[in-house]
Amino acid sequence: MIMAKIRFATVWLAGCSGCHMSFLDLDEWLLELAQQVDIVYSPIGSDIKNYPDNVDACLVEGGIANEDNLELILEVRAKTKLLISFGDCAVTANIPAMRNMLGGAEPVLKRAYLELGDVTPQLPDEPGIVPPLLEQVRPVHEVVPIDLFMPGCPPSADRIRATLEPLLRGEMPEMVGREMIKFG
Ligand code: SF4
Repeated sequence: MIMAKIRFATVWLAGCSGCHMSFLDLDEWLLELAQQVDIVYSPIGSDIKNYPDNVDACLVEGGIANEDNLELILEVRAKTKLLISFGDCAVTANIPAMRNMLGGAEPVLKRAYLELGDVTPQLPDEPGIVPPLLEQVRPVHEVVPIDLFMPGCPPSADRIRATLEPLLRGEMPEMVGREMIKFG
């Protein structure tokens, strides 16, 4: 009997992509992973535009900072069995949330694009292209339920592998100890 592969996804929200770069640091283990999973959606290794149905596990990088992030994470949650908050920006909102202390989206946009704009200062405004910012950046679990937290900025390749290997066996990883839950 041919066993169905695990339907695996990764999502990039408000993060720097460093967590995905760390995922690529899995190097040759990615070949082993590829034998056990179908990557059905990811900013790396896939050109699929729409998040598919029936995803078994998904790594989510980044916080929820704009309306596109919000729309996507609601869809991802609805279509995913096991959702993993992947990296400090997903777990705590981390760097993207530094703007939260500046009083909302408008003052941040004005500061960045008008006050500090050297040439033709203007606010980014292209409906359907530039997603409006949310007033506050939020960690993923404040928006949708999360099944597993994998902190780190970024999580090391070793930590990613130690998280995924039990999942591939159908077991939940033990996220305990410095090697698995240290921030930063
Ligand atoms: S947790 Fe760190 S590496 Fe990952 S997206 Fe955020 S800033 Fe980048």
